[in-house]
Amino acid sequence: MISRIDLRGDTLPQGGALRDLLPRAEFDVEAALEKVRPICEDVRHHGAAAVIDYGEKFDGVRLAGLRVPAEAIARALDELDPAVRAALEESIRRARLVHREQRRTSHTTQVVPGGTVTEKWIPVERVGLYVPGGRSVYPSSVVMNVVPAQEAGVEGIAVSSPPQKEFGGLPHPTILAACALLGVDEVYAAGGAQAIAMFAYGTDGPDGCDPVNLVTGPGNIYVAAAKRLLKGRIGIDAEAGPTEIAILADSTADPVHVAADLISQAEHDPMAAAVLVTDSEELAEATEAELKTQVAASKHIDDRIAPALAGKQSAIVLVRDLEDGLRVVDAYAAEHLEIQTADAAALAARVRNAGAIFVGPWAPVSLGDYAAGSNHVLPTGGCACHSSGLSVQSFLRGVHIVDYTRDALAEVAHHVVTLAEAEDLPAHGAALKARFGWKVPEAK
Ligand code: NAD
Repeated sequence: MISRIDLRGDTLPQGGALRDLLPRAEFDVEAALEKVRPICEDVRHHGAAAVIDYGEKFDGVRLAGLRVPAEAIARALDELDPAVRAALEESIRRARLVHREQRRTSHTTQVVPGGTVTEKWIPVERVGLYVPGGRSVYPSSVVMNVVPAQEAGVEGIAVSSPPQKEFGGLPHPTILAACALLGVDEVYAAGGAQAIAMFAYGTDGPDGCDPVNLVTGPGNIYVAAAKRLLKGRIGIDAEAGPTEIAILADSTADPVHVAADLISQAEHDPMAAAVLVTDSEELAEATEAELKTQVAASKHIDDRIAPALAGKQSAIVLVRDLEDGLRVVDAYAAEHLEIQTADAAALAARVRNAGAIFVGPWAPVSLGDYAAGSNHVLPTGGCACHSSGLSVQSFLRGVHIVDYTRDALAEVAHHVVTLAEAEDLPAHGAALKARFGWKVPEAK
């Protein structure tokens, strides 16, 4: 069911050599680029008509228009199961608590008397938030995208999610209801690369989508490829592909919990990765046995869980001790990392690379998926070593405001001219000389 990798040999390889030994999904975004390029070009030239054509081709439903009518959004909230509504409201409340704290305040540094640099944080004007809806629907991803954007102060928020045949071509009603709860009324029924291109290029017509400045949100390989292709025209967040869980555990971990948590993420996608790193052969064996029992009792066995666990992206990795375990999880840089060891907090504090870290037996990844208050849009595929998950910061731009008086400029002018000449850019220096009668003030 799940393979084993034994790294208990003499010395653990380092860096790239260690990464090469670890399991990873084949998520070849480069190859998908060639598939999504014509889709994006079509949307660029033919707008909404092309998005509608691709919706018919990939989602099996032909739409009259892409913009979801306000009545459909309101109806979805009216008809929402009260228990789901209460759960979404709690998820939103907790996410707001955490994300509100991430707001940044502008800061002014006085470099010299009369010379200041202010760093001002300005929200992106208009964003497109992608909410996946191919294999599963993710109303939780509405919360995770919209809350940080709102807390950052973004004014224009548009959401897009694939049209669902069984709901007459609208996005899933729980996604619409989540939008309503968050006060988002600009929603489109578009999925995959065509949705990202719609956000980037905009579409015409009375219900058209204005181009956005930034696109965020997780999605499948076509979504990731379109984001990579259109980056530059639009800003993007980190690539968030098929989900990953790594668990660093010792003999104190409960194999029932470990197996349940591995399965919880395998449930997303046949390409999802579930990795257990442990120094305990006993735990490895008990977890394997538990996986057999629990998988048999799961819902999405054949289409997702079994292929995800059996895939080359998932494994139980045996290490000599927890120090090596720490090196392994740092090299792997998981989207989600659980630490289930005797002194979990101390070990968690030493982790360098992970999208989010879940500490101890009472913080499963599922909690973070829905209602910890943390964000679940996280970097995958090893990107956690250089990128962060979605946050208020993702929707802000820092701008430096430079304000110098004559005296403050005079004090540093000779340095500026010297550096300009060292770079053979004398016109740069001339811009200062012109202000002082073509003579640089003497150094003090
Ligand atoms: P999706 O919405 O990302 O993709 C569905 C769309 O893909 C369809 O609308 C269709 O237009 C397009 N598509 C399907 N087949 C295509 C083809 N052959 N060519 C071109 N386009 C095609 O939904 P999904 O497929 O369920 O994927 C969601 C992914 O998001 C999963 O891998 C899940 O693990 C991941 N996810 C990640 C996070 C995170 O934070 N990392 C959170 C939630 C979900």
